[in-house]
Amino acid sequence: MTARLDEKLELIYQDVLHRNPGENEFHQAVHEVLETLGPVLVKYPEFAEKKIIQRICEPERQIIFRVPWQDDKGEIHINRAFRVEFNSALGPYKGGMRFHPSVYLGIIKFLGFEQIFKNALTGLPIGGGKGGSDFDPKGRSDDEIMRFCQSLMTELYRHIGEYTDVPAGDIGVGGREIGYMFGQYKRITNRYESGVLTGKGLDWGGSRARTEATGYGTVFFTHEMLKARGDSMEGKKVVVSGSGNVAIYAIAKAHELGAKVIACSDSSGIIVDEKGLDLAALKQIKEVDRRRLSAYTEFHKDAKYVKGGSIWSIPCDIALPCATQNELNANDAKTLVENGCIAVAEGANMPTTPEGIAIFQQAKIMYGPGKAANAGGVATSALEMQQNASRDSWSFDYTQKRLEDIMIDIHKSCYETSAEFGSEGNYVLGANVTGFIKVARAMQSMGVI
Ligand code: GLU
Repeated sequence: MTARLDEKLELIYQDVLHRNPGENEFHQAVHEVLETLGPVLVKYPEFAEKKIIQRICEPERQIIFRVPWQDDKGEIHINRAFRVEFNSALGPYKGGMRFHPSVYLGIIKFLGFEQIFKNALTGLPIGGGKGGSDFDPKGRSDDEIMRFCQSLMTELYRHIGEYTDVPAGDIGVGGREIGYMFGQYKRITNRYESGVLTGKGLDWGGSRARTEATGYGTVFFTHEMLKARGDSMEGKKVVVSGSGNVAIYAIAKAHELGAKVIACSDSSGIIVDEKGLDLAALKQIKEVDRRRLSAYTEFHKDAKYVKGGSIWSIPCDIALPCATQNELNANDAKTLVENGCIAVAEGANMPTTPEGIAIFQQAKIMYGPGKAANAGGVATSALEMQQNASRDSWSFDYTQKRLEDIMIDIHKSCYETSAEFGSEGNYVLGANVTGFIKVARAMQSMGVI
């Protein structure tokens, strides 16, 4: 880890290390938040007295369960699934489910921990949680995905509910998986409880603009950072990592706002298209055909496909990491800064390593951490919950406008908090402190629970 902690915070951190051995990503996420809380404890000594930080670092509930399922050949597989219900001070636990072979408790805890502060920043009544499984959806048939989702929900259903815990998507979980999980929940409980999951299909309780929301929100946030410095997205050269849901809609909104996105990636390689990426081709490849990104060269012969390598070596004005945790390290950060990058905003969760963040901060370039920059996804999930609660369905434009306003507010409160605590423009501090204070106040009001 880079920065040192105050003495009191270091003791809390040591305790987290001791209680959660081997969970590196969780340690990293906690350290990043603790680094910014020193001045908060000076201003609000009651938070230390009430041990709010220690309480926030311990999940309220952690569920680990077996998911057995049969593949198309009849062979039995056993996966492990998790749901970490981290904090419910502001509302029911809320956060996605991730299906990826790298998933273990440490990943789900880091995501759940970040989700607490992110969700608080949205200003909507949602607590923080996260779940997932080490199931690898790659290469699995539709039927296999369905059987896996059904088996997972056969256990998960008893732990979730509209007023308890509301899962959604994340890496490896999109509309298709939410559909299979919702169907099984409905079947087991005999309840059409729309508000139990978000990211649903538009015909059965989903919200317009939810699919687009994380990527759009990241670009709205980037635009706000630029506007605060008298600049805009217009004419900027952008590089986006990833090619999933977040990346695709970040590319779409960046283009709409007059920028040119020249590269994106998947786990095998990078596509560079100097003319600007073709969104329709990307959607066809990733959303309809579910193919690898290398197929892009079939649509554009002059585009370049590079196997492996770092996407961050491509010169750009704006970098949007939208793939996964720790995908952008110190070397990548150095290269971006040297190449003249002026802004980085995270569509993914914790994509920049602590050393990478330090480099952006030393270079004084704009850096929007995921907690703030990618909060548009979960914010729109909360809007989906609102629509479900009132049995209503809003137009795309209205929902998008609500999303944009939320992102503008998040930027504003992060910026103001950074200035209040003597570090103007430091969005890491702004996001952590704003989110923390909201949760801490609510926890304090509710007593020792
Ligand atoms: N997985 C998304 C996130 O990281 C969205 C969660 C949700 O919509 O509940 O915020």
